[in-house]
Amino acid sequence: MSTDDGKELHSGDYSLNIVHLYPDLLNLYGDRGNIQCLRMRCKWRGIDAQVTECNLDDNLSLASADIVLLGGGSDREQQIVCTRLQKVRTELRDYVEDGGTLLAICGGYQLLGHYYDTADGRMAGLSLVDLYTQQDSPRLISNIILINESLPDSLPYEIVGFENHGGRTYIGGNAPFGKVLLGHGNNGKDASEGVLYRNVIGTYLHGPLLPKNPHVCDLLLHKALNRKYGVSISDFPVLDDSQEREANRAVVKRYL
Ligand code: GLN
Repeated sequence: MSTDDGKELHSGDYSLNIVHLYPDLLNLYGDRGNIQCLRMRCKWRGIDAQVTECNLDDNLSLASADIVLLGGGSDREQQIVCTRLQKVRTELRDYVEDGGTLLAICGGYQLLGHYYDTADGRMAGLSLVDLYTQQDSPRLISNIILINESLPDSLPYEIVGFENHGGRTYIGGNAPFGKVLLGHGNNGKDASEGVLYRNVIGTYLHGPLLPKNPHVCDLLLHKALNRKYGVSISDFPVLDDSQEREANRAVVKRYL
């Protein structure tokens, strides 16, 4: 293997540290499957991937983290995590501002912003990204399909998933993760879904987002490898995603 500029790559020389934040509380719809996907797509390329689970009582250190996953949860679990997260806000903010890769899903996505207003009061967010969320009814529940044609590594095909949230999120001037082709997205009004900020992806797409969308998984791996080693995911062997693509196409064909 070699990079575009001819440098020889030895895949065994590469390793990524994945930190799964609060899997004991934020694992609604099996968000954990995303960790498996990151691990396997590293392994298939000969890249070592270590996963550290950080539970509520553990000390958080992101000094050697390359990818952080913050999953989704109910309002109750979100409140517990939110209180804990305030104590590690500086660590997380420094990681994000330093270009650390972070995937935040649903409840975790809402916590990236300034606040989440619910009928029971305001949940303070981390203010890592300029966005806010307000609860409303009905819940926005749907299969969802997005497209994003403006990313530098332009996602070549649709992103498919499932959403279930009471919160409506407003991302101001930030770029969305994608444009909604089916479903509700951030707030059911402006056809935006999720947010992109530095190397952060925030999204309402629950559960097996990455197994269903290997191109999104590779985007995260690319960001992390590029930050750590200055290499591109395309410098590594191309994986056979024919079955995943077929499954993705089947969803798009069925709903659009
Ligand atoms: N509690 C949040 C909402 O309902 C997020 C729920 C979730 O993570 N599915 O908007």
